[in-house]
Amino acid sequence: MAMQNLRDLYVDELKDLYSAEHQIIRALPKMAKAASAPELKNAFNQHLEQTKHQVERLERIFKDLGKTPRGKKCLGMEGIIEEGSEMLKEKADAAVKDAGLISAAQRVEHYEMAGYGTARTFAQMLGFNDAAQALQETLNEEGDTDHKLTQLAESMINPAAEHESAETSGYAEEEDLYMEEET
Ligand code: FE
Ligand code: FE
Repeated sequence: MAMQNLRDLYVDELKDLYSAEHQIIRALPKMAKAASAPELKNAFNQHLEQTKHQVERLERIFKDLGKTPRGKKCLGMEGIIEEGSEMLKEKADAAVKDAGLISAAQRVEHYEMAGYGTARTFAQMLGFNDAAQALQETLNEEGDTDHKLTQLAESMINPAAEHESAETSGYAEEEDLYMEEET
């Protein structure tokens, strides 16, 4: 079906988001299972529950539009999740793996934020104020999740990963050499 106007494009964007959210609902339990830090497991599980509400928000928007949410696959999210799933199989040190899972999850959140920001703006332009507000709510939740993941990475996970790699790979010594060369 050809897209003739902004409304058609808006519906297309919403279908893309709907597909993306369903893919995330399938991926998050695997990420929670693969995470070692209890805080990270919790963060993934909490966001899973939040994501289910985000799907309901989209379903309400489709209902108000008299459209079906089905019929599109979000290939961007498929690629991001596929890339992240490599991390699930990785036999890395626990803290390093957690850092990798956070990295993958933040890519998911940023991709969602781009989609929801666009859809929110289209809704505003089309005068769908309730939908714009609902999309903004989800956008805020994705942003909050992204910040929470950054805080987790900064507070515990990334420094621990760095510590491990310095001990096991001699990276710290290499860094010292490099500094000497420079001066
Ligand atoms: Fe989401
Ligand atoms: Fe999300």
